[in-house]
Amino acid sequence: MNYVVAPPAIASIAVADGDDRFPVRRVICVGRNYEAHAREMGKDPAREPPFFFTKPADAIVPDGTAVPYPPETRNFHYEIELVVAIGRDGFEIPEDRALDHVFGYAVGIDLTRRDLQLAARDLGRPWDWGKAFDNSAPISPLRPAAAIGHPASGRIWLSVNGVVKQDADIADLIWSVPEIVAVASRSIRLKAGDVIMTGTPAGVGPIVVGDRVEGGIDGIGRIAITIAPAA
Ligand code: MN
Repeated sequence: MNYVVAPPAIASIAVADGDDRFPVRRVICVGRNYEAHAREMGKDPAREPPFFFTKPADAIVPDGTAVPYPPETRNFHYEIELVVAIGRDGFEIPEDRALDHVFGYAVGIDLTRRDLQLAARDLGRPWDWGKAFDNSAPISPLRPAAAIGHPASGRIWLSVNGVVKQDADIADLIWSVPEIVAVASRSIRLKAGDVIMTGTPAGVGPIVVGDRVEGGIDGIGRIAITIAPAA
């Protein structure tokens, strides 16, 4: 059997402290999962069921990437997020077993073409073109739960050119990691290799060419990217 074009490379994320790689199947993102961010997006932060959107696995880029300013936007935003890597398949996972399915954690930036996302939202159209574009998921090396456990609290922050823009705690997630895993697994069979970006705290804003964007989560890691001219 021959593929008629070269098969795409397997997307992957570095595992911290070694040469191992985590192969990525798909990237699942949670919308509006911190109250203050829901408010800044003009939405009621009431605890509605979580909702999801996705990015392609090959949107992932590593720590240190110079991300080209993306096409078709004039309002390119950062969103710092806790990233969860699924290490074991599961469907209808009970909340009290959800963490058994987590391989580890990382720090990610849900890069967003905010103008395209909001236009789509207001027209009742899919968010894809606002969220699922090339290089839209910088993710730090993963820290295995076997090494760091399952952090339920810790400062999450992001700075642009050294000025802190987002500063919160992952304890403030509206929907916790076990709840997200449980809810998502009712709609799709989660598989080893799935990555979940769990939503961003308040303070999102625009970035431009030349900006240096850094962020981190205490106990998990850090990430830094720069914004390069459009490629
Ligand atoms: Mn997000």
